[in-house]
Formats: sequence, structure tokens, C-alpha cells
Amino acid sequence: MAASPPRPRVMVLPFPAQGHVMPLMELSHRLVDHGFEVVFVNTDFNHARILAATAGETVIPAGGGTIDLVSFPDGMGPDGDRTDIGKLLEGLPEAMLGGLEETIRSKEIRWVVADVSMSFVLELVPTAGVRVALFSTFSAAIFALRLHVPKMIEDGIIDETGSVKRNERIHLNPKMPAIDATELPWFSLGKSQESRGAMIQSLVKNNQTFRLAETIVCNTFREIESAALALLPIPALAIGPLEAPKSTLAAGHFWAEDETCLPWLDAQAPGSVVYVAFGSLTVFDAERLQELADGLVLAGRPFLWVVRPNFADGVGEGWLDAFRRRVAGEGLVVGWAPQQRVLAHPSVACFVSHCGWNSTMEGVRHGVPFLCWPYFADQFLNQSYICDLWCTGLRISADERGIVTKEEIRGKVARLLGDEGIKARALSLKRAACASVADGRSSHQDLLKLVNLLRED
Ligand code: UDP
Repeated sequence: MAASPPRPRVMVLPFPAQGHVMPLMELSHRLVDHGFEVVFVNTDFNHARILAATAGETVIPAGGGTIDLVSFPDGMGPDGDRTDIGKLLEGLPEAMLGGLEETIRSKEIRWVVADVSMSFVLELVPTAGVRVALFSTFSAAIFALRLHVPKMIEDGIIDETGSVKRNERIHLNPKMPAIDATELPWFSLGKSQESRGAMIQSLVKNNQTFRLAETIVCNTFREIESAALALLPIPALAIGPLEAPKSTLAAGHFWAEDETCLPWLDAQAPGSVVYVAFGSLTVFDAERLQELADGLVLAGRPFLWVVRPNFADGVGEGWLDAFRRRVAGEGLVVGWAPQQRVLAHPSVACFVSHCGWNSTMEGVRHGVPFLCWPYFADQFLNQSYICDLWCTGLRISADERGIVTKEEIRGKVARLLGDEGIKARALSLKRAACASVADGRSSHQDLLKLVNLLRED
């Protein structure tokens, strides 16, 4: 019997943050389904966290293929502040390029699927003979906005050092979301003026090199982002919304999922639970935390709230234990939830969210109305999609001190859950999202286009 041909091998390279590792891991599973071997690259730091969260289990996709986990240093010391995205981005090329090139050669890799934030790997196109597909973990609208950065500098709205010169509402197309210049994602990602400036300069530089990539793959779907996709500089593929792999061990979580919330949800009435989660990076101070906690109690509905171990600044474990005792029976607090399974649960009524793009796509896919509480990065633009274009959620407002009060939380939860129009639109968006990934429809067709491209020599 003739031996079956070797599976084509693809390197998948996420930016080292939770909201990037997870969708690229989801894509890796789809690629394995289509016959690929995946070499998945983490930083050493995240590799260790993922193994710790999954008790050392490695990724075993269904269907026989493999996802080979490899890792490299990220250029930071053991105590480096990895939440300073600007600083992290600065050090990654030097720390990783050598190891990536060596792995590409030794494993005979022809294609790299690289996070847009890791587009420094395009430097290897001429030297290592590799082909690159970029992957955006953000909306296509964000990508279009980053291409617009040089024009915003030219127009005197922002400058190269990462400062806003003139605050203006940026709106590239009526079918796209709008934000104020002060809310542009890159300003909030660098913690110092220096790292913000470095980020703007690297954006401008990367805008030139994107053309070395052969496609941009987005975790979105055409029915919601056709206007933004049309602005991208090279052919774009919209393959979303991506879905978590069946085995939770295989998802690349940095924290262990607390599955006790699933039987708890089973015990709640359909459409009753307020789900509250702010992704992997948002941090609350003690005052905001207390208002949110009191607001959830005041709202008078069962709630499931994710409070990550590093979520609250300057608040001890004792606070959380006391709160858990106070709300026992009414609400459940977990450290990290199986979010996609939570959002799919019929007991969930709404999602109080920071509007990270993954959370946004997950809420859309499951037809859940949003209470939007953006914190930084692309979240303000995503909020504009939800509240201004899709009309599937409400904004939460801070008072004059910048605090979201408990009364605001109570009032907005009640308004959101009483709004039948929002519920109907969220369900219609869910139908569009589910249709797009069905066989033969737009996202499925784009996935097949990607698969065919990655099979090319
Ligand atoms: N997530 C999760 N459990 C949680 C909270 C979040 O699995 O308790 C996942 C969520 O499903 C999403 C990702 O973490 O896929 C967060 O990505 P997102 O873009 O929403 O936010 P970020 O963490 O990048 O700010």
C-alpha cells in the first residue's frame, strides 16, 4: 500500500496575549481538521502558563493531526511587565526572529500564519523563503484604521510620538464604527510616551511591509464587516466567528477554566443570568470593583462574574471571600470561565463586557445582548459596532469622577433586559453569524480559500 503523503506543515505565530493565543489556537484546530500539521509558537512565559493551566496536558486535536507547541523567549526578564504591550512589542523581533528562522528551516515550513502584531516575521520572506498569511485578532475596521494612521499624522490629528493633537471623531465609512481620536487603540497600549511613540512608528513602518503578506485573515464575517474588509491593502479572508475546540485542554487558556459555573447555570431560569467578564487584561481599582459588586447585587438578577487572579488592583483575597459569602445563592464568582460555553447557555440573559473583539464575536455568535464597558485598545471601536451599527447593546456611562456607579449598573441592566428590540436584533445577528460559517457560506468558503492557499508550495 502506498504511504499517504505527508501533511503540509504550517507555523502559527500569535502575539503573546490571551486574546491572540486563543483565536489562533482555534484556527490551528480548523487547519488540523483540513489535514495540516501545526507548529504553534508561544513565548516561553506563556508556554509555561498554558501548561500550568492545563496540568501539563499538551494539545491533542481530534482526528489525528498534531499541534506541536514550541516556545521562544520574549525579550523580557522574569519580572518584566508584560501588560505593557508597547514594551513587549519592541523586544519581540530581536528575541524571536533567530529562533523562528531556525525552526522554519529545520521543520521545513513553507507557510507562517502570523498575527498582524507579529508582522516583523515578514522580514523572513526574502531570507528564509517562507510565505506569510497575516491573521487579525481584531476587527477588519481596526486594520483599516491602522492603515489610516499616516493620514491622521499628515492631517495633524495625532503625531509620531503618540500624542493626540486635535481630538476629532474618526469615521472612515458610514457602515463602519466611529471613535474619538483620544480613543485610538494604540495610545492606551503603551504605558510610557516612549513606548507609545515606538508603537506608532512601528505601525507606520508595518503598513509598508504588509504587502509582503499574501492575505489577511480576519476573525469576522462579511455580513458585518464588508465595508472595512474592502479597505484592506491585500486580499482579505473573513473566516469567523471562530469557535473553541471541543477539548478545553486544547484551547490555550492562561488560567484553568472553572467549570462549576455550568451546573450553576443549569439551575438558573432561562434568560435570567447577567454574565460579567472583562477579558484577560482589564484591571479594576478598589473603588470601581466595589461599585460593580454593589451594582450587581442591586440589579437583583442572578449573576456570574469572572474575577481573574490579577483583576483587582490593591484588593486582597479577603475582599473576594467576603463578597462570595454575601452573594451566595444570588451570584457566582469564578476566576476564569469557559466563556464560550457560558455564552451558549440558555440561562444567560446579557453580557457585561469590556468589548474585546473575541468576546464581541462570541457574544454575537450566541445572540447575547451587551452592556458595553470598554477599557482600552480596540474596545471603544467594538462598542461603536455594538451600540451604533448593530444596535445589540447599550453603553455604560461613568459619572463626572470617571466612576461607573452601582445605580448606573442597576439601571442599565434593567433597561437592557427590558429592551425587546435589542434582543431581537441580537438573535438576528446570531442567525447571520451561524449562517456564515455553515458549509458553502461566506466564512466557510473563505476558510477553504485559506486552506487551498496554505497547501500551495
Ligand atoms: N475568556 C475565557 N474565560 C473568561 C474570560 C475570557 O475563556 O473567564 C476568553 C474569551 O472567551 C475570549 C478571550 O478570553 O476568547 C478574551 O479575548 P478578548 O478579545 O475578548 O479580550 P482581551 O483579553 O484580549 O482583552
